[in-house]
Amino acid sequence: MDFNFTTLGTASALPTKGRYPSAHVLNIRGRLFLIDCGEGTQMLLFKYGFSILKIDNIFLSHLHGDHCFGIFGLLSSMGMKGRTSKLTIHAPAAFKGILDMFLHHFEGDAIKYEIVHNVLEGSVRGELNKIFESRNIEGYSFPLNHRVPTYGFLFREKIPPLNVVKSKIEEYHLTLKEIALLKSGQDVDRGDEGMLRAEEFTYKPFKPRSFAYCSDTAPFKELVNVVAGVDLLYHEATFANDLEATAKTTFHSTATDAALLAKDAGVKGLVIGHYSSRYSSVDHLKEEAQAIFENVYLASKGEKFEVPLERLSK
Ligand SMILES: [Zn+2]
Ligand SMILES: [Zn+2]
Repeated sequence: MDFNFTTLGTASALPTKGRYPSAHVLNIRGRLFLIDCGEGTQMLLFKYGFSILKIDNIFLSHLHGDHCFGIFGLLSSMGMKGRTSKLTIHAPAAFKGILDMFLHHFEGDAIKYEIVHNVLEGSVRGELNKIFESRNIEGYSFPLNHRVPTYGFLFREKIPPLNVVKSKIEEYHLTLKEIALLKSGQDVDRGDEGMLRAEEFTYKPFKPRSFAYCSDTAPFKELVNVVAGVDLLYHEATFANDLEATAKTTFHSTATDAALLAKDAGVKGLVIGHYSSRYSSVDHLKEEAQAIFENVYLASKGEKFEVPLERLSK
């Protein structure tokens, strides 16, 4: 029951000697989601042991090069490795022209699989738009505040089916039909014996986990509700607070902005990344954020952040 987030590319705009542009892998129960795809992403995926054929959904937050220049090499390599299964790329509307250009010139070479462009939409701040659903997971996009249309992402495990309390099965000699009713959250009417309340007879086997991704963005108040209470929040922290004015004019955030959001939204952990190339060390960004919010972690190449499963019982 994996739920972890691996940071691969941690640089903003300009890559540096040790940092690649934005690229991240979210692994939920073995399902791999690639979030942003800066230059060099495929090499990082190989280096840290991710199979590129296992990725069937790519999420591009926006069309600045540091978030999408790696997509062509990756699409091409997927083809050369014999991919046949569909790939969905969730990206803003303007990605269509970029994809069409690529397919027009290179499709004949290697792209023998279907690529679906799911257009990210919605410009109302604070609104979630469902873009992904499987049996266990839901994914949403939401607008951010950047210089071009930009989206953040929220992933949540679905509320698991209820379990029936074992001791009650024996005590009340529950039939299979009654167990099924209780599991679906319905009360059981036993006539003269009274009602068996689903609330008393069942429990959630575990707490659903959640993750939110915010890059790139200037801070704005509606974001608090969108990421409220998530287990793990990734947020850009391009600058330290002494460059607040630069952050404002470029529609980016400081480490202070990221920490204030984490604190106000009551998240459990905050990962910061997307560092300006002017910083050779980023420890001061962590210190700045930690003065406001304690559980801060620095994104670094190949670092994996786990959200453990919390089992519940009754
Ligand atoms: Zn960026
Ligand atoms: Zn950007």
